[in-house]
Amino acid sequence: MTSVVADIGWLAGSGVPWSTEPGVLDSRRTDRSGWAPDGRPAAVVFPRTPADVQRVLELADHARTPVVPRGAGTALTGASTAGAGVVVLDLSRLNRIIAINPGDGTAVTEPGVITADLDRAAGEHGLRYAPDPASVEISTIGGNIATNAGGLRCAKYGVTRDSVLGLDVVLAGGRLISTGRATLKGVAGYDLTGLFVGSEGTLGVVVGATLRLRPLPLLTATVAASFASLADAADAAVALTAARVQPAVAELLDAATLAAIDAAQGTSLRAAGPALLIVQADGAGAAEEASLIAGVLGRTATTLRTTTSPDEATVLLAARRQALPSIERLGRPLIEDIAVPRSRLAEAIREIETIARRHGVPICTMAHAGDGNLHPIIVPDRSATEIPAPVRDAAADLFDLALRLGGTLTGEHGVGTLKRAWLGRELGPVQHDLQRQLKTLFDPHEILNPGKAL
Ligand SMILES: Cc1cc2nc3c(=O)[nH]c(=O)nc-3n(C[C@H](O)[C@H](O)[C@H](O)COP(=O)(O)OP(=O)(O)OC[C@H]3O[C@@H](n4cnc5c(N)ncnc54)[C@H](O)[C@@H]3O)c2cc1C
Repeated sequence: MTSVVADIGWLAGSGVPWSTEPGVLDSRRTDRSGWAPDGRPAAVVFPRTPADVQRVLELADHARTPVVPRGAGTALTGASTAGAGVVVLDLSRLNRIIAINPGDGTAVTEPGVITADLDRAAGEHGLRYAPDPASVEISTIGGNIATNAGGLRCAKYGVTRDSVLGLDVVLAGGRLISTGRATLKGVAGYDLTGLFVGSEGTLGVVVGATLRLRPLPLLTATVAASFASLADAADAAVALTAARVQPAVAELLDAATLAAIDAAQGTSLRAAGPALLIVQADGAGAAEEASLIAGVLGRTATTLRTTTSPDEATVLLAARRQALPSIERLGRPLIEDIAVPRSRLAEAIREIETIARRHGVPICTMAHAGDGNLHPIIVPDRSATEIPAPVRDAAADLFDLALRLGGTLTGEHGVGTLKRAWLGRELGPVQHDLQRQLKTLFDPHEILNPGKAL
């Protein structure tokens, strides 16, 4: 491991708790991508207030010390990794839900709040925080905002950006700004809130958020349908739009993913068929919508089950949320995250199958069918110590496929370090350059999460 001696003398005078204990440093070096940078971070700082964050960013900017903001470290892209010479800004102690305002349908929180905790707190007022990444129990609001996380319910409620009304952000150098507003509408000035959402900690550090809450649905109905192939299941999901229904959830899982879940969780999902589509409708008309959904899916499904039992639905969605940890038990997977126009979902799935065959690599595929977001997960042999060439080549083909079909390199996980090489191709030189200029405007000394996202 490289050892770079960083100037962190300024930390001693900051008044903010920090640690250089090797175990603490090592636990913040990588994220769930498993990608490890060169060396070990110089220190981990634990701010307790926005003022602590201001102090750290002021001193770090002065000393030109790189700072990596960190929520829970569940990023799948290397976005929250921290190598030699870096100070990690661990935001987990900024974890208060400051207010739930039922009348306004809003919540005000600190960034270190675990997302599911906010949703549960909103539930006590008959409300919900809608964005629910599969990592909802282990990731933070700040991390979700910085990656613009998507989730299962995004088919109806949109991604994190659609629930962020305003942000408190500490800029490089330590100034604190408040963007957006506490109202549900408002268009004064440029949309800096939207700019910070998804900026992967490269433009500023989120220390507070005003978030939109939605009514907790009166009723939820779930349809689980098996199909002879994943492409058939995708076609059926797309056909739902013609039936004028708006599913809240539409999740696709292929045979390899179902087998991995069964092996890890003791379920028997694969036995029903090689592809599973889970569709959920919510709201007062959920039962009626579910019956319309069942009518459409029933045209091509091999088995079909509808339930309004919350327990049964919870079991099905919990299985979906465990898909990634279940696949991780098979080896160290390369988790991809492309999105294509929804109408091209089945085409993308067929091409992914061809890519797997061409490179001789196993690919487990799941998808948020409602928004055309696919997760082809390449699982190299367990013995591989680094990413084997066929896996790298298959990943390159997946990115190429996404762009060719008019899609994107990342639907929700972000660019991090692992997709930077491809970003220029998606953005084009003019926009890529404009985005670099924005980075320089907000962070002239490049101290915020350098080497990530752009
Ligand atoms: C099992 C599993 C399932 C997952 N499912 C999904 C899914 O369904 N949808 C999805 O979108 N993602 C998913 N992810 C990926 C990951 O959980 C999300 O990217 C999540 O938003 C990261 O949150 P975090 O708190 O762990 O952030 P971290 O990993 O700590 O950080 C992520 C990025 O945000 C920045 N950051 C963190 N906090 C702040 C802050 N306060 N201010 C500024 N920048 C900050 C970091 O610098 C980094 O760039 C999954 C991951 C796992 C392990």
